[in-house]
Amino acid sequence: MDAVSQTVMKLNQENKVEHMPADQGQHLGAAPVLNPLPPLQDRFGRTFDYVRVAVTEKCNLRCTYCMPEEGVDFQGRDKILKSDEIMRIVGVLARMGIKKVRYTGGEPLVRKDIVDLVAGAAGTPGIKSVHVTTNGLLFDRYAQGLRDAGLTGVNISLDTLDAEKFVRITRREGVDKVQNSIRRALDMGFPRVKVNIVLMRGFNEDELGAFTEMTRDQRLTVRFIEFMPFDAHQIWESGVHFASAESLVNQIEKMYPGIQSAPGTRTEHHIFQAPGYQGKIAVIPAFTRSLCGNCSRIRVTADGNIRNCLYSDKEYSLREMIRDNCSDDDIASTFRKAFMDKEKDGFDSKKASSAHQVSVKDIGRVSMTQIGG
Ligand code: SAM
Ligand code: SF4
Repeated sequence: MDAVSQTVMKLNQENKVEHMPADQGQHLGAAPVLNPLPPLQDRFGRTFDYVRVAVTEKCNLRCTYCMPEEGVDFQGRDKILKSDEIMRIVGVLARMGIKKVRYTGGEPLVRKDIVDLVAGAAGTPGIKSVHVTTNGLLFDRYAQGLRDAGLTGVNISLDTLDAEKFVRITRREGVDKVQNSIRRALDMGFPRVKVNIVLMRGFNEDELGAFTEMTRDQRLTVRFIEFMPFDAHQIWESGVHFASAESLVNQIEKMYPGIQSAPGTRTEHHIFQAPGYQGKIAVIPAFTRSLCGNCSRIRVTADGNIRNCLYSDKEYSLREMIRDNCSDDDIASTFRKAFMDKEKDGFDSKKASSAHQVSVKDIGRVSMTQIGG
């Protein structure tokens, strides 16, 4: 039995329940959490029920807004959380009321045990959905395994539909592969398929309509994410400019008169469905931060640190305490401390941080891949 299955079994035994096969998304969360801990809350009354775990810093693309061409100073394998350590964290969080797990990175599908990680989270009592955010290049290889492991949702990042622009932004070939991955995810019937687009003026804003039209016949959500100027790589100098959520919403409303608001997740601050269309269109104000009041997310970096906000430079280490055989209560207390320290919003987080500018470089992490976007 592999390390992940052993840890899941141990968690289930501690919860005094039978191991639940995680083969179907709709069964997730069916097993009750029998040793619940008080929920994870902050001093502003927000409750956190969603964890984003970066499972690697490595990536097979080099998106200009995310990583320099030569990559970053990737940490050695011993510094990155192992699968049983990730499962331990997910298990404790599930006892604290966390219901949703997302694996991100770096590129989560470069991690060879990704299917086991999904199965482990899907089999953890209390976890109701397991998602990955991927650039889609390797999705085809893992799609069936991920589906069988219980993956409920896949977010595929694709900033352009144009092959030449794709190479310009990612510094690699592959637009066809990513488009095929989106089709495959839909054909396989994953309950939630979303396309993440970082929208930038002077680069891909002219493709807004092409992306929104993907929702005409396909049951997917296209999500326009505000570019966050973590500007260690001087993307501004390339002639690319910030497009605000507000301006995107205005353009969408003009394109589709009578467009209706639709239900979405908490980060999908603006979400719509065009009349007669199958899919949805969302705009995520990641930089203008009007979504902070609804924040429900916890971030764990690939090297095992808790982050209570993308805009904070403060981190709380779990890796060494787990390796020193700490108790579940120690892990839970570290999360509680991290979230009691959480500021009201991303602006206050930024102010409270040592960095004067929001720059991943200043805050000791030179790429989103190291934080987990
Ligand atoms: N490699 C995977 C991918 O690209 O989907 C997962 C990690 S990536 C850091 C997660 C998401 O963050 C992607 O949708 C990516 O486009 C987005 N992202 C990365 N850097 C960003 C930035 N500076 N501003 C806004 N979104 C960013
Ligand atoms: Fe890799 Fe995702 Fe960053 Fe692009 S955005 S370099 S795919 S981690």
